[in-house]
Amino acid sequence: MANDSVDPVCGMQVEEDDCAAKTEYQGKTYFFCTLDCKKRFEDNPEKFVVAEQRGVDRDASEAK
Ligand SMILES: [Zn+2]
Repeated sequence: MANDSVDPVCGMQVEEDDCAAKTEYQGKTYFFCTLDCKKRFEDNPEKFVVAEQRGVDRDASEAK
């Protein structure tokens, strides 16, 4: 089974085993569809981490 993760920069689903780039931030690993997304994340990680947390909240309520 593939481990899917969401690219916090562009919102695309990426497979953790088959991602173009990944990075660790505050003890968590983030996966990216391209090196460009990773660069944008490392430029301003706090912006994308906050956006991701909001997205997760919304997804959780929609999933039910
Ligand atoms: Zn991306």
